[in-house]
Amino acid sequence: MKTINIGQYIINVDADATRRAYSGYNTPGPERCKCGYCNNWVEARKLFKDESFVDLLSSMGIPYGYEIEVCEVSGKDSPHMYSGWYIFIGDFEVIDGSENHSHEVGPYEIRLSKGLSYPVEEFPKEGVSELHFFIQTQWYLKKQDPNTVTKKTKIGYMLYNTFADLISKKKKP
Ligand SMILES: [Zn+2]
Repeated sequence: MKTINIGQYIINVDADATRRAYSGYNTPGPERCKCGYCNNWVEARKLFKDESFVDLLSSMGIPYGYEIEVCEVSGKDSPHMYSGWYIFIGDFEVIDGSENHSHEVGPYEIRLSKGLSYPVEEFPKEGVSELHFFIQTQWYLKKQDPNTVTKKTKIGYMLYNTFADLISKKKKP
């Protein structure tokens, strides 16, 4: 177990165990889903490989680009907001005790949550947490097919909505 302090978060992560779990997790969620929004994210993540974000993930044993799932929501001025999450083996505390806390890492907004959104075969069900991220991107594909929304992205959309208020509140001074 190692401790990482970031913003209000004190993260206790077993980076080796997390790395071992990811070594068996060969197909990231977006590649598994293959809907238009996920395909767009596969392009977007090449452009948003921010060093500070990659370093944070790496220090936790998480390989960049191996999201469990991502989901997309169109913004007002047409940018595409994406949210997604990674699993890590460990736990965290929030210094000020607030439940609605998030932290900026490069262009990403991150937020931690305890437990799993749903079980994932390669990861244990207990003693795990999720690192959620949010980022504004654009549409990078030549073709857009809004009819390829799958059941899984709908679940992601619902999760996104639970955090969207928090983010818009934070962005406005
Ligand atoms: Zn998808």
